[in-house]
Amino acid sequence: MRILIVDDEPATHDSYRRSFAGQRSDTGDALDAMAADLFGEDVTEGDADGNADADGNARPDFILTHVDQGLDAIGAVEQALADGEPFAVAFIDVRMPPGIDGRETAQRIRAVDPEINLVIVTGFSDFSPAEISKVAGPADKIFYIAKPFEVAEITQTATALAKRWEIDRELKDARAMLAAQVVQLEEQSAELAANESRAIHIATHDSLTDAPNRLAFLRALAERTKVAGLFATVMVDLDRFKLVNDTLGHLAGDAMIREICAILHRSAPEGALVARLGGDEFGILFETLGEAAAVMACDHIVAACAVSLQVFGNSVQGGASAGLVVTEGGQGGDPVDVQRRSDLALNDAKRGGRGIVRLFDESMDEGIRFRRRVENGLGQAIARGELSLVYQPIISRDAVEVVGFEALVRWNTKEYGALSPATFIPIAEESNLIHELGDWVLNEALTVLKHWPGQYVSVNFSPRQFRRHNFVGHIMENVLRAGIEPARLQIEITETAIFDDAERAAETLYKLRQMGFRIALDDFGTGYSSLYNIRKFALDCLKIDRSFIDGMGRERESAAIVHSIIHLGRALGLGVIAEGVETEAQVQALRLAGASHFQGYFYSRPVDAAIAVDMANARYMGGKDDTAGDALVIPRQLGNGLRN
Ligand code: C2E
Ligand code: CA
Ligand code: CA
Repeated sequence: MRILIVDDEPATHDSYRRSFAGQRSDTGDALDAMAADLFGEDVTEGDADGNADADGNARPDFILTHVDQGLDAIGAVEQALADGEPFAVAFIDVRMPPGIDGRETAQRIRAVDPEINLVIVTGFSDFSPAEISKVAGPADKIFYIAKPFEVAEITQTATALAKRWEIDRELKDARAMLAAQVVQLEEQSAELAANESRAIHIATHDSLTDAPNRLAFLRALAERTKVAGLFATVMVDLDRFKLVNDTLGHLAGDAMIREICAILHRSAPEGALVARLGGDEFGILFETLGEAAAVMACDHIVAACAVSLQVFGNSVQGGASAGLVVTEGGQGGDPVDVQRRSDLALNDAKRGGRGIVRLFDESMDEGIRFRRRVENGLGQAIARGELSLVYQPIISRDAVEVVGFEALVRWNTKEYGALSPATFIPIAEESNLIHELGDWVLNEALTVLKHWPGQYVSVNFSPRQFRRHNFVGHIMENVLRAGIEPARLQIEITETAIFDDAERAAETLYKLRQMGFRIALDDFGTGYSSLYNIRKFALDCLKIDRSFIDGMGRERESAAIVHSIIHLGRALGLGVIAEGVETEAQVQALRLAGASHFQGYFYSRPVDAAIAVDMANARYMGGKDDTAGDALVIPRQLGNGLRN
């Protein structure tokens, strides 16, 4: 512990030396006790025990530095600081001619060392303590000893102040350490906060598009439902997305999702929340003035999606359908119900085709109830004998002859009367009922077929039936059981059934064809198949969808599509059946275009089994301008009046 002594009198320096060299006197005990009181430490511990060794603990080892003048003192303090061994205490005489006095010395020392304890050794008539404190404070680091002093006064003051100086230093170090720790903690907490917000971002955003995800959407919807005012909840689903994924790969699918997400952002009303709910489904939430305005906004969004997108160098036709519901917030509405309604509207839009916007209305809920009832009723329909088949002849172009019949299922319900297969087949398709229903249709058709002289029966199979395990074996089993030639069964499947898993479908079709079954691709032109891909599949004929035949007379495109399908079919050696032929004009046009077969109300509506057998036996369906002399002619009007 270093002590600085500043005094111009050599004799005083000697007294200091003696003070620090000498043993402690009894009078010192009082000051020791004072020091203990002051600093909470028993500085006299060693003495009290009478333990000589401990004495060193109570009184630190002092190293004295003596200077005669104030300026030397300042220099010594500076040097001590520079050496990293500062003084703990300086005893300063007040009058030190010819140099600067004690007050100025104290002031200047204080300026270089804020920690040092200063003891002003002053005569009675010198500066008042307050005067010196003012320039060399703080007051708690300045002490006074009156001259002449006693030895004990000096040593005890030095001991107490040295202790205190040490404690101050430790405190200062501890404070600095604490401050550093606080800074570190602050940094850590900032980092934690950043991590947390990153985690929240990840949990609430979709990684592919960085749009809010389903969770974020549902939260926003729940919040919005609580607040007053009209808002629109929209579900958007991409058209043909699966096709892009399947044919161009998942990366292309991802790219398309990102493109569409950007389009949705651009085209949605300002302030809208656009979220990716998963797969190719998006949710949009926005404020609206009413249903008409919301529908308009959705029309705009859907139109914006109907553009040709560049995906990895491929041009892909974008497209989306949307279902929406407009809700008044702040009425205690249930966000889950809001979402359910917009989902129902979307389902309705998808069922309606592509690029459609549907506003929720209560009948959609009604529709769901209807579906449930149908689903329940269909289970028993077979057992109750409520199902029946009707048959629609397929006529060859050249001989105008009935070559086969398409079997079409009918369901006569007690509750709703006769239901169209267009209503209940999709419902059966969504449940497992389609298999039972399909088996019934197949067996019924195969039974009726036996009464026909040679025509085939064309049976519809839904995608789900076609994809069932061991479809080929299943069909074969039924045909064998019925004792029918495979060539008399035509399997009608749609494009969707084969393009969802083209490789497997190609294999199934190949096997079926090998076994002698006929295969027709139904509703051709409405699905996804590129004309080019068709070559991969073993087929017998294409059925041109009714919508193109219907549009032929009115729209150039329909006529063009019909022509190209017929060309394609002929080029691949396939038959081409034109479906839904209703007028003489259509027959003429289709004949010219080169369709090989016709089916439609112009020749006959679907008829029941008894009439079908008559038609089958008559064969010829030439109608009025009869050319086949001896054949039994069934006028084409025959079927039309009959139950369909
Ligand atoms: P599809 O296979 O395209 O059958 C042709 C539909 O067009 C039939 O409707 C038929 O009655 C109708 N149609 C035939 N000629 C004309 C015409 O000249 N003009 C008009 N406007 N319509 C005509 P249907 O019987 O209501 O069948 C609807 C759909 O239900 C069928 O469409 C088929 O996809 C499905 N379907 C029918 N029966 C079965 C079945 O047993 N199993 C499966 N899986 N699906 C079936
Ligand atoms: Ca069909
Ligand atoms: Ca069809």
